[in-house]
Amino acid sequence: MHDVVIVGGGPAGVAAAYLCHRSGLSYILLEQGKTVFQGIANTYPEGKNVYPSKPKESPEPFLVEELRPPDKPVAVEKYVQYVQHFVQHENLNVKTEVSFEDLKEGRDHLTVLTSQGAFKGRKVILAFGSSIPRELSVYGDAKMVAKSLDDPKKFVGARTLVIGGGNTAADVIISILKAKREANDAESVYWAHVAQKFDVNKETAQRLGEEILLGGNIRLLPGAVPRIGEVDEEGVDRLVMRINEFRQPDGIEIYHAMSFPMKNVIACIGSQGPLPIFDKIGVQTIACAEGVCTVAKEGDRLILLTAEYESTRKGVYVIGGAISPSYMKISAGSIQEEKHPNLIYTAINDAHHVVEAIKRKFS
Ligand SMILES: Cc1cc2nc3c(=O)[nH]c(=O)nc-3n(C[C@H](O)[C@H](O)[C@H](O)COP(=O)(O)OP(=O)(O)OC[C@H]3O[C@@H](n4cnc5c(N)ncnc54)[C@H](O)[C@@H]3O)c2cc1C
Repeated sequence: MHDVVIVGGGPAGVAAAYLCHRSGLSYILLEQGKTVFQGIANTYPEGKNVYPSKPKESPEPFLVEELRPPDKPVAVEKYVQYVQHFVQHENLNVKTEVSFEDLKEGRDHLTVLTSQGAFKGRKVILAFGSSIPRELSVYGDAKMVAKSLDDPKKFVGARTLVIGGGNTAADVIISILKAKREANDAESVYWAHVAQKFDVNKETAQRLGEEILLGGNIRLLPGAVPRIGEVDEEGVDRLVMRINEFRQPDGIEIYHAMSFPMKNVIACIGSQGPLPIFDKIGVQTIACAEGVCTVAKEGDRLILLTAEYESTRKGVYVIGGAISPSYMKISAGSIQEEKHPNLIYTAINDAHHVVEAIKRKFS
């Protein structure tokens, strides 16, 4: 049992963990990636500068100076590396490769259900950012399917399947083809997409074409649909893809399918905002009626939070990119849209305010 369970190891989650650590609260930080700041590492283009941007109207400085990006902007790789060293140096209690799934109420605590079991906390801080990778929807379970590529060398010697029709999928394929080429591995990479047409930009297409000309073995599967997640008789989790189908006049469907071990599959099928998670865990959101919101559009649903970022589920706080670009703030009996720019600054400062609020509640 921890005082605080923190979900998501981006700027908001790491700041919250560090502040709990400094305040003597027991805590655990759960991150679905291989390391902290995986979200940033996955979404920033290579070499992008990180700016210590601050909204004009905010009077506060960065409230966790240690995590502030330097004034003279550095490349994202350098900032991520600095934070990883910081987390190590401070010996923060981080558990990686743990994916948040659900929240359950106990008598005097909350239970966070994850891909690696349950974690109990008196309070929960949700800091999973604004971009949640979409899940494959198949009959059965497809949780073993990766949603990003951490090490292309892992796929050397394996027939790999990449699902998704856009630039992200193409980039993953380019990296795997390169790793295979360098290791003299001629095994194919299958590229599946539900639509008939793949849709990548010119620059990505050029890099992909180059890999193919250098010997990359790629098989296209247009119109392929993920259908079933199953465990075979040898206990291997497999994903079955329907690669084409023939509907006969008598109502019978004939189709071809391919089955891949899930450990060789990467699904790059885009991301979604955190609304489906808010709905799943039962925190309340409210739709913007005409003329009520200035940042959000009419009909957009915004999460309801107190001034201390507590949601309508008691003890559950939501901070950082997950509540950007705006949320509904409950204060003094009124509810109003509150701007919340998606910046490292806001993520870090939210963490500070929430940990202070939790400390007040515990004292
Ligand atoms: C291309 C780009 C450039 C940007 N440049 C800047 C900049 O220069 N300066 C600036 O201030 N801001 C910048 N931003 C915005 C900034 O990166 C975000 O505001 C900030 O990362 C939000 O922090 P966060 O901790 O809330 O979320 P994130 O950084 O998204 O971190 C969330 C973490 O939670 C993890 N996670 C997600 N789902 C789960 C789950 N189910 N279980 C467990 N863990 C989970 C993710 O892997 C991730 O590590 C940029 C954003 C982008 C996309």
